[in-house]
Amino acid sequence: MPLPEADSSNDTYEFSLRSGIPQSFPLTARFGAASHTGLRRANNEDHYAVVQRRRARKILLTNVDTGGLGLPDDEAYAMIVADGIGGCGFGELASELVLRIGWELAAAAPFWVMKFRAGVIDKIREKITAYGRQIQEQLREYATKDPALADMGTTWTCGYLMGRDAIVAHVGDSRAYLFRKLSLRQLTRDHTLAQTLRDVGVPAEETAQYKHLLVNSFGPHSEKVKIDIDHVPLEEGDRMLLCSDGLTDMVSDDEITSTLVEFPDAQAACDALVERALRNGGKDNVTVIVADLGSQPG
Ligand code: CA
Repeated sequence: MPLPEADSSNDTYEFSLRSGIPQSFPLTARFGAASHTGLRRANNEDHYAVVQRRRARKILLTNVDTGGLGLPDDEAYAMIVADGIGGCGFGELASELVLRIGWELAAAAPFWVMKFRAGVIDKIREKITAYGRQIQEQLREYATKDPALADMGTTWTCGYLMGRDAIVAHVGDSRAYLFRKLSLRQLTRDHTLAQTLRDVGVPAEETAQYKHLLVNSFGPHSEKVKIDIDHVPLEEGDRMLLCSDGLTDMVSDDEITSTLVEFPDAQAACDALVERALRNGGKDNVTVIVADLGSQPG
């Protein structure tokens, strides 16, 4: 039985086949990253990664009229900073493991979220929370095989960029910031005892001694790890910065702001921020990732 001919005067038909879903152009992203042991520590317990995800389509065979059919590739990026705790090289291992486990889980995932849509945040939360549980299970397995690893732990802060939207997920006190129109905004809340006390009204000067005491981190002994997950709409010209506390303990928000203003290139900004942390004392390992969000070329 022949298929009915499509009515070219039908607007809905034209819209769905020719125009697709209306979209604004995604933002391009350029990245820089730097990590340094610092001036006091013997080893670097920080690890970082910037990962590109790509969904490409190409029509190999068809008898459909493909004139005007757009098949742009979709790109998404994950930027991750992990700061290990545990000493004796175990912190270094924990922060590396959390990245490696994340890669393996993503590779095994039946689908990747490549676009942000209203309503998809709940799915993303579910997915990241499930990742968190699996990360915990695998860290526990490592510690079961080698009890010396029982006290290892790590922070985990991730910025996932899709077009004009970002998801920021984090555990611990590595931070994510958004730099927009010359102003710096902290996107994450430190999971430290100091922050918890400040939240219930304890004066900041009385909490300083607890600023490195994590109340939430990945590790074999961690119970009920809570991953904060937020949606951040992006604008052209935004810069997203992820860093370990080796930066934020040494370099004030004002200094970070002035460095980002002074260095418009992502890699130059990262190098300059690490340099500042070292100049200010370099007491800890310091790691920085910067993403510069720009407009689509052409
Ligand atoms: Ca640290």
